[in-house]
Amino acid sequence: MGVPTLGCGCAVCCSSDPRDRRLRPSVLLRWHERGVAGGRERVVVIDTGPDFREQALRNGLTRVDAVFYTHSHADHILGLDDLRPLSFTAFREGGPIPLYVSAETREVLEKIYWYTFSPDATYPNRARVQLEPLGANTPVHGAEFVQVPVMHGEMEISGFRFGNTAYLTDVSAIPESSFALLEGLEHLVLSALRHKPHPTHATVEQAIGWSRRIGAHHTWLTHIAHELGHEETNRALPDGIRLAYDGLGLPVNMGRAAQ
Ligand SMILES: [Zn+2]
Ligand SMILES: [Zn+2]
Repeated sequence: MGVPTLGCGCAVCCSSDPRDRRLRPSVLLRWHERGVAGGRERVVVIDTGPDFREQALRNGLTRVDAVFYTHSHADHILGLDDLRPLSFTAFREGGPIPLYVSAETREVLEKIYWYTFSPDATYPNRARVQLEPLGANTPVHGAEFVQVPVMHGEMEISGFRFGNTAYLTDVSAIPESSFALLEGLEHLVLSALRHKPHPTHATVEQAIGWSRRIGAHHTWLTHIAHELGHEETNRALPDGIRLAYDGLGLPVNMGRAAQ
């Protein structure tokens, strides 16, 4: 819902700590592709929620090579149209921006953004983007994105591993087979909504349990609701586990062909 949450006057929603102001979850990855003249910078975004435009402005985003979507809920997809200006540039330079999606996400995006994706679409300013099926491994300009299936209530959604880092949001359960994809991580970004149980999101306590099992050097909790104050929650977390916050940057090793 974002923090402050609309209509709420709780201590976290009224907090003056900038880390208690939370836009909807999203990830920006930048790396230099090896073997390309000048080591061209590559840019991938995971999810374009309703705050995507504001996040892009804050982080100086001027181009995007690809977007990955975790699932089709509003807080992860509703900024798709704000890819338009970036997609016009990408299109002039070579082609539409690929959006990597599951079959389920494709179906929802095609419905909501029918004026973009329908073969009959005639809207001249539609985003120059193209839906691409998400495979187990997706190469993007020297980096590789491994799909990590996780459960979000009854729904299977996609987490991603890239190099030594993984991003798992909106998780309520991690299937046994996905733990094998999460070995040897430096950074794990994992969602934890609040302390009280929720049907489709993990609690802080569940996230701590998975974090210990996965054994990443650093775990960053994201997709945090207004029940969790930044400072107070951090103080109670075990070593190596901290709340993420808007604008947090991490050094990520993207893998062999990217740096
Ligand atoms: Zn969701
Ligand atoms: Zn969500």
